[in-house]
Amino acid sequence: KNVLHWFRSKDIRMQDNRGLYAASRKALEGKGKGSLLGLYVHSPKDLEWHGASPARVDFMLESLRLLKEELESKNIPLAIVTAEERKDVVPTVLEFVRKWDVSHVFADMEYEVDELRRDISVAEKAKEAGWGFEVLHDQTVVQPGTLRTGNGGPHKVFTPYHKDWLGETREKSELLELVPEPEGNGEEARGEFKELFGGEIPSLPSSKTFASDEERSRLRKLWPAGHAAGLQRCEDFLQNKVSSYATHRSEPAKDNSSRLSPYFATGTLSVREALHAARKHNAGKHFHEGDKGIDSWVREIVFREFYRHTLVSLPHDSMNLPHNLKFDFVEWEEDEEGWRKWCEGRTGVPFVDAGMRQLNCEKWMHNRCRMNVSSYLSGNLLIDYRKGERYFAENLIDFDLSNNTQGWEPSYTIFNPVVQAEKCDKEGEFIRKWVPELAGLKGKEVFDPFHRLGREEFEELGYPEPHVDFRESSLRAKERYKRDLAEA
Ligand code: FAD
Repeated sequence: KNVLHWFRSKDIRMQDNRGLYAASRKALEGKGKGSLLGLYVHSPKDLEWHGASPARVDFMLESLRLLKEELESKNIPLAIVTAEERKDVVPTVLEFVRKWDVSHVFADMEYEVDELRRDISVAEKAKEAGWGFEVLHDQTVVQPGTLRTGNGGPHKVFTPYHKDWLGETREKSELLELVPEPEGNGEEARGEFKELFGGEIPSLPSSKTFASDEERSRLRKLWPAGHAAGLQRCEDFLQNKVSSYATHRSEPAKDNSSRLSPYFATGTLSVREALHAARKHNAGKHFHEGDKGIDSWVREIVFREFYRHTLVSLPHDSMNLPHNLKFDFVEWEEDEEGWRKWCEGRTGVPFVDAGMRQLNCEKWMHNRCRMNVSSYLSGNLLIDYRKGERYFAENLIDFDLSNNTQGWEPSYTIFNPVVQAEKCDKEGEFIRKWVPELAGLKGKEVFDPFHRLGREEFEELGYPEPHVDFRESSLRAKERYKRDLAEA
């Protein structure tokens, strides 16, 4: 009897993978009788459903290719099977289990409602058929749902969650321990599972192609796939950038964040491994007791943990509904022109446009810009935030449902993107880089050229006028929210 680890789209790695390690241990229990196998079910329709961008799908498939090589060097086959429709995923797993005489299946937990339902259905079938199915917590250092308030309820506010998280990881240092790589199979596995070794990696679904081969190579260079590249990026960040993270993390021109989000989103690098490395760089001290940069960076990672924790306590977060359900009753505007301008980075607001153009080019956007462009879409254009959420999914290389949905949560706070730019892009460097029409502007005009230049000078720039007036549009949104939330 053989043991299977079923890889999904958030644990594409061999290192520090709890489900894979548990599968490896199980296979060793029956040494001489069974082998460790890997399976990945590629479902183009599922990717369609989630709106995954070509950049993200390509990154995933490349990472899978590298993972397959790593596993196969240990004689562990990784079968990559295509199940066109979402509904075919479970039958594909069941068929694999039957065909390859599998007695136990392991996997890492995914917390979204659809994925939980899928796993429940596999668990039911496993029970009927008499094989084992175990799903392990692996995406976070602290298991979602475990940290509780004094009253025993789940944390709803970040600051006390963060404090408890630091206490928990300090007290239970085993939470940060890495699990070993899986034990390989004997050479004979190559013959026995011949059909599963080698073979083609699926190509991009037809709906997810790049504009050109050059475009694809450019993005692959910017975002090299696989675990080794992720680990290298993490080390480079800790060596060269983290010390300035606390002071400059909100300044997109400094580009001093880790850019590890695509690796964390696909599990190509585990957050545990990154935190392990961070603690080493912190001279072994706990995160908040050493380098300020490390403390500040880890706080962002705790945000990621908090959002997964929230997803578990409020599952509707993954069902296209706002966290605060009252926002589902807002009457949004149908502003096609505003929508198009927002997507293309031509709203006439330089900081918003710079962010959107960075997204369209790099398939990634700095966090401060994500905060501003999302606030602008729902707060100033009064366009349904879910359209923006979807646009992010369809373009980002690091799309992560939990971080994205909660980043997009609508609220009464509307950022003033001119004030934000003056604070976070003091020299206007980021704007000049991404909005070349404004590159020649020397002073503070760059933050708001329409209001700060004479009419003629402005027209010479060839840059659009603001699509809406900031003050008026902010008031309109606040009044609309007040009206519609009160009626909800
Ligand atoms: P770093 O600053 O180096 O942070 C390290 C890691 O911590 C990140 O890789 C990420 O995993 C986590 N992190 C950082 N900031 C946040 C945050 N604000 N919330 C939750 N986790 C965080 N992040 C995604 O991974 N995928 C998304 O689809 C996504 N969509 C977002 C949409 C909006 C509207 C907003 C406001 C934020 C979104 N974020 C998303 C969070 C954040 O912007 C990115 O994680 C971050 O910019 C990634 O860059 P980095 O890896 O250099 O981050």
